[in-house]
Amino acid sequence: MSSSPTRLKRPRSETEEEAVKQEPSRLPAPVAPVIPGVLAVGPDSEGDPRPPPLRRDAEFWYSDGSIILVAKDVEFRVYGGLLAEQSSVFRAMFAEENPVRLVPLKPGHRDQLTIPCPVIQLADAPEDLRRILRVIVSRKSTGYFDARKPSFYETSAYIRLGFKYKIKELYKESLQLLKSHYTSNLERWTKHDYWRPPHWHTDRYSISVVNLARLIGEPTILPTALLACMYMDEDLVQGVECEDGTREMLSPKDLGRCFRAMKEISKAKALSIRRTCAEVLSEACKVQAMCIVGLRLARLQHLDAIVSGFGSETGDPFQSMDAVGEVKLAMCAHCKVLVLERDRKERQLLWSQLPQLLGIEVPGWGKPVSRPESQVS
Ligand SMILES: [Zn+2]
Repeated sequence: MSSSPTRLKRPRSETEEEAVKQEPSRLPAPVAPVIPGVLAVGPDSEGDPRPPPLRRDAEFWYSDGSIILVAKDVEFRVYGGLLAEQSSVFRAMFAEENPVRLVPLKPGHRDQLTIPCPVIQLADAPEDLRRILRVIVSRKSTGYFDARKPSFYETSAYIRLGFKYKIKELYKESLQLLKSHYTSNLERWTKHDYWRPPHWHTDRYSISVVNLARLIGEPTILPTALLACMYMDEDLVQGVECEDGTREMLSPKDLGRCFRAMKEISKAKALSIRRTCAEVLSEACKVQAMCIVGLRLARLQHLDAIVSGFGSETGDPFQSMDAVGEVKLAMCAHCKVLVLERDRKERQLLWSQLPQLLGIEVPGWGKPVSRPESQVS
């Protein structure tokens, strides 16, 4: 997996290296011995169209399992009842007539007892299937993720396969975790230091998050996931490398949407800055000349930050004016309170407009707020 630059949403005192926890390295699928006498032998020449020999999964092959699931060339022997209990799709699948293989119940015994075990071919990657089996089969607590934060690959598998097989709890809890970062809540979003969950390996996973949101039809994730994609600049068109070496890209429509929205959001943010920095001071201000100069300076600096673009450290258009890099509000305390309140309302307004600026529909997204006073068009 190649890495890509990791960018902060806003400046931090600690270094990026200190804060970013690397996702545990992913290992290739465990190599288990080929089951004697099972299906095909390996290809005997280059270009042989025959499928590769099947392997038992090293982690999930229970000698008393009642179902064999096959994902590509890996077989998993698991307890059908356990899966059927949590997935209506598996339940229906197991109820159908499936090919059966006689397998030993207690391997190694001289008088080997065999049982008929249904064999079910799945279209999933063995790595993904193994990930969901880890939580379904090995589950011990009421919450799936009580003690840890799932990696990107885990989250992606839980949501895709949880959605596909209707594993309700796993899907619901994983989606909740995803939504806690790619949130529809402005206050929560501004507290994030990174464009993606901090324990994920690269910003580029936001590309996959957009595609996940499209797959499951969950539009509330899209605005911030697309925003994170825009922030990648040219990395966006490279896509993100998948576990199997292929690259995942945004759809051409979403890619175009990012380029267009970047311009629209920049324009809206520029207008918002002009309104926030309108030369209207607090009635309690005693140093009006100084505060006017401070406002003009703030306006110029924040407009400059937009010119620097989304690729700059101050790229998140939803960060508070007080929190943006080197830009300081040089004015009296009374005026500063007034300006920060205007800034808060403007950011809320921009947030409520975000789906529209992105050209997407997100039912229930941020209620529109009334336009702040002292506007500058
Ligand atoms: Zn003042």
